[in-house]
Amino acid sequence: MPFDTELSQERYRVAIIGGGPAGSACALALAKRGVSDILIIEAGDYTQFRIGESIPPESLRVFQALGMDQAFLQEGHAPCYGSCSYWGSNKRGYNDTLMNPLGHGWHLDRCKFNRFLATQARDRGVYVLTHARLKGSAPATGSGFVLHLALGAQASQSSARIHADFVVDASGTRAVFARQRGSRKQSGLPLVCLAARFAIIDPENQRSSLTHLEAVEHGWWYGAYLPDDCLLLAFYSDAATVKARRLHQPEHWMGQLANAVNSARFIHHTEPLAGGILSFSAPSYCLDQLCGSNWLAIGDAASAYDPITSQGIIKALANGLSAAHVISGQADMHLFTQTIEDMYRHYVVFTDFLFY
Ligand SMILES: Cc1cc2nc3c(=O)[nH]c(=O)nc-3n(C[C@H](O)[C@H](O)[C@H](O)COP(=O)(O)OP(=O)(O)OC[C@H]3O[C@@H](n4cnc5c(N)ncnc54)[C@H](O)[C@@H]3O)c2cc1C
Repeated sequence: MPFDTELSQERYRVAIIGGGPAGSACALALAKRGVSDILIIEAGDYTQFRIGESIPPESLRVFQALGMDQAFLQEGHAPCYGSCSYWGSNKRGYNDTLMNPLGHGWHLDRCKFNRFLATQARDRGVYVLTHARLKGSAPATGSGFVLHLALGAQASQSSARIHADFVVDASGTRAVFARQRGSRKQSGLPLVCLAARFAIIDPENQRSSLTHLEAVEHGWWYGAYLPDDCLLLAFYSDAATVKARRLHQPEHWMGQLANAVNSARFIHHTEPLAGGILSFSAPSYCLDQLCGSNWLAIGDAASAYDPITSQGIIKALANGLSAAHVISGQADMHLFTQTIEDMYRHYVVFTDFLFY
């Protein structure tokens, strides 16, 4: 069943900006607590490719808490048994899930996963509005917020204005609502990801169920086989290097790949998929203000980590779950934001220790 593209009412108890993992998890958890009149405002329509696919075994615990672990397991995402890395030498290192009591992690079909989460929320009575973008917001007279939305695909856009008693910013690294409230990102490292997808043309191709990492002079390579029978290869570096080496251009990207002997072998017996080199910014930061009167930020809107940690999706889901406790009056807002800040501080100490 398709999602909604028109508003059904003008006033909502909770409006969630962004229907990614954080927004859908929050909506689902709120609906399970009996909160009604929840609206997800999602700019996309769950048909476009999304990057970010490795999740650890511990994700199962969050799926259980959200009451959707069995439904998730039936979705057919690919098992991931850990990672294999070449970190500064040709000596191969493993970090596997063999001893993990929860079993393996997964390589997700991310577009399908996001759609699945939003469907879970919709099936619990959440109103999921796609092709809807938050443009502006202001405190309403009395309490809550007035939200200004652009509706519809670009060629046929209209605008709308709604009232929300409580707003959750789950808009990812755009942090669109929080920034409208004056929050600023306290940044860490700016990172750029240049990714390409390849179709596997040899049916005998031995597909690894590990995440592959290889450090090279100007950054690192990431490789994973995805459930839709394609290979994802991505190079991570800083913006200055990407610009200077023109790595957006396929021939330079391929030249860079040729230097990474352990990653380059993956493209044998594959064909590049349409779309060329896709560019993503992957900043690390925490907002200086994570909440205010009748609003809070979760997931990447609140804090974003380096993708090498594979923690972004599980953190987004867990934040969504905790936010639902806060909004339904079962947990303290201050404790919630303090936990996000503490986790970010730990992440900074951990990555500083690893890389520098
Ligand atoms: C290159 C890269 C690779 C990554 N790899 C991994 C990985 O392997 N494993 C992992 O765990 N994490 C990974 N991450 C991080 C992970 O993708 C994020 O942490 C996770 O998606 C955060 O979920 P979220 O719901 O907070 O935000 P998002 O997934 O970004 O969702 C935000 C949603 O808000 C919508 N939106 C934005 N602006 C508006 C607006 N104005 N109005 C309405 N809707 C709006 C967007 O369309 C989007 O659907 C990666 C990130 C990057 C950049």
